[in-house]
Amino acid sequence: MLEATHRRIAKEIAKELNLNEREASLLEVGSVNPDSWANFPHHEGKEHEIAKNILEARKLYVQNDDECFASLGNALHYIQDRWTMRPRLSDKHTKWEESINLAPILDDSQLENEIKQALLPTKAEKAYLSFLEDLKKGLVSISDETSKQKWDSLWKERFPLFFSEEAPPYMPPYVPHQLLEFLVSPSGVKVICYALQNRPTTWSNPVLDLNFAYRICLEVARNVFSQEHDKKDWLETPPKVTPMVTPMLTENPLRPFGIMLFIFSFMLLIIAFANVGNLLFPLLLGFAFILLAPAILLYFGKKPAE
Ligand SMILES: [Zn+2]
Repeated sequence: MLEATHRRIAKEIAKELNLNEREASLLEVGSVNPDSWANFPHHEGKEHEIAKNILEARKLYVQNDDECFASLGNALHYIQDRWTMRPRLSDKHTKWEESINLAPILDDSQLENEIKQALLPTKAEKAYLSFLEDLKKGLVSISDETSKQKWDSLWKERFPLFFSEEAPPYMPPYVPHQLLEFLVSPSGVKVICYALQNRPTTWSNPVLDLNFAYRICLEVARNVFSQEHDKKDWLETPPKVTPMVTPMLTENPLRPFGIMLFIFSFMLLIIAFANVGNLLFPLLLGFAFILLAPAILLYFGKKPAE
């Protein structure tokens, strides 16, 4: 979407949620920022960015940190671009984006009429009408089962090697220590699944693109900035998961570096012995042994007491 459209949606959401001027401006700035980062395309493949920014925004919100508005703005940007029909021919795409920018934000009954009046095959029309009904219900429309499946596949794609089936529901069951920030409770997972809903048909028009994007963004923002939940509701403490990788890392997070140094030192030894007789041999041999010390320390060392 065009920068002006991202700004317009942010303003509209800020008004709807009664954000103050500063919060509204931060949301707006966050909503346009991603277009100055060279991480295109934005209309697909940004699911993890969306999830990450929503969680980040929620974390900051419960900490009373107003950067949460900018973080959520980033997530909303990618959601909005996801709802912009794919670029096929670039001049057509620009025209489409310009039409989105001129399209009005409609209320529910106006949007229903728009769906009925748009030139759509009957199946597509029905799909949009039932999608609109679901959106009106909010998070409730996402079943626990859908939510779990979507969450699992989101992480399976990203970390296929680490994925184990034994993990508890809703937890990406892994995996490296530094990713523990992604452990999210079912209510957080639902917001992310709501944000990542797909277009129910490939037919569309600019008015539909704008209005569905707006509705999804508004509901996500309403939940992220909601005080109704317990403060710890979304981000749970790391569970007692027992896949192979996690316990080892929790006990000693530096162990992988130890292993890397061992491998490196072994490679140096091989290269050294391939150079027996010239000056490189003693040098490489020396380096290999010097590296062994930190390798042993990192591998066998215990995690310092906290
Ligand atoms: Zn963009």
